Amino acid sequence: MKKYDLAVVGGGPAGLAVALAARNEGLHVAVAEAGRPPLDKACGEGLMAHSLAALRKLGVHLSVDDGAPFKGIRFMGANHTVGAEFLGGAALAVRRTTLHARLVERAESAGVEIHWGSPVCGLEGSQVICRSMRLAARWIVGADGLHSKVRRLAGLNHFVWNRQRVGLRQHFAVRPWSDSVDVHWGAGCQCYVTPIGSEEVSIAFLCRKEQACFRDLLRTFPEVADRIGGAKPTSSVRGGVTALRKVRRIYKENVVLVGDAAGSVDAITGQGIGLAFQQALALAEALTTGKLSRYERQFAAIMRRPMLMGTGLTLLGECGRAREVLLRFLAGKPANFERLLALHVGGPRYAALD
Ligand SMILES: Cc1cc2nc3c(=O)[nH]c(=O)nc-3n(C[C@H](O)[C@H](O)[C@H](O)COP(=O)(O)OP(=O)(O)OC[C@H]3O[C@@H](n4cnc5c(N)ncnc54)[C@H](O)[C@@H]3O)c2cc1C
Repeated sequence: MKKYDLAVVGGGPAGLAVALAARNEGLHVAVAEAGRPPLDKACGEGLMAHSLAALRKLGVHLSVDDGAPFKGIRFMGANHTVGAEFLGGAALAVRRTTLHARLVERAESAGVEIHWGSPVCGLEGSQVICRSMRLAARWIVGADGLHSKVRRLAGLNHFVWNRQRVGLRQHFAVRPWSDSVDVHWGAGCQCYVTPIGSEEVSIAFLCRKEQACFRDLLRTFPEVADRIGGAKPTSSVRGGVTALRKVRRIYKENVVLVGDAAGSVDAITGQGIGLAFQQALALAEALTTGKLSRYERQFAAIMRRPMLMGTGLTLLGECGRAREVLLRFLAGKPANFERLLALHVGGPRYAALD
């Protein structure tokens, strides 16, 4: 049996990123992915400047031809709207299938061995067991998403906290009406609109499980529904779980977790993919020295602020009164929203709001 330095379970953004980062460090890497490309997923598909920077470090250079740039974020409440542009450069909205294709291209040309259609069903010491093959490796990386099997098999399925919601998204052939991502705050749910191409937008809803019907949700946001009108859908509705979740431990012996498998922030933050890229870079570096405790520390540092922002944003989603008070305050002093946005995307830290 061929032996690798690293066997990665899951070929989504986190798995491919860690495979690439490890390959860039000279390690021999195999990936086992249950699905087959092109892999799609319910996602808002926004990559902010720091996510694009991490991607470039992995050797993947996205251009405006891969998606649509957007300049900032607007929050639209019942009575107030506030918006700001990113200080650290434009962000890019990229279809998941495009992002995946770029990651696969780069990983394959770097020499990563990818086994498509290979769901992992077990772990045995240094071996990853798929239905029709086994991969032997010094390190096993669980990059198999929110419902990670590796996490369960390795005995790491213990959470410090775990708040789940549902996300739904669909694309429509409509010219974008904003050069920002618009977040509309409704009763217990949010609708966010991302310009994804010159003639296409993505509509995503984040809500409680019992609210999860795309058509019903769209009706509760008449401003968005009017813009969509009778436009042709360019994709089918896709749903998924999003979680604000902290996993107690992210490694045990030779098994280590990355991406959503290792913990996640609610999708309202628009941060999941970028965090996975940052974690992947930290993990690859730690693997070269064998010091996983270092990765655990860096992981905690990467997640600290997004967790805090994710908690704040989900609370804001639940408390309409507090939200309106905050939106009124920010609409009166928009520079404060710019500061909060800069903080959110990892820009300069501001000591205080005006
Ligand atoms: C509605 C919604 C909107 C979002 N919007 C944004 C956004 O705008 N920006 C952003 O950055 N993030 C966003 N996110 C979060 C983002 O989608 C995730 O953080 C990201 O997909 C995590 O990547 P991952 O590789 O860890 O997991 P995944 O993307 O889930 O990939 C895991 C992979 O593992 C594979 N797998 C699973 N089990 C096995 C197995 N047993 N064997 C082999 N393979 C397996 C799966 O097939 C999958 O390909 C959003 C999420 C949701 C739900």
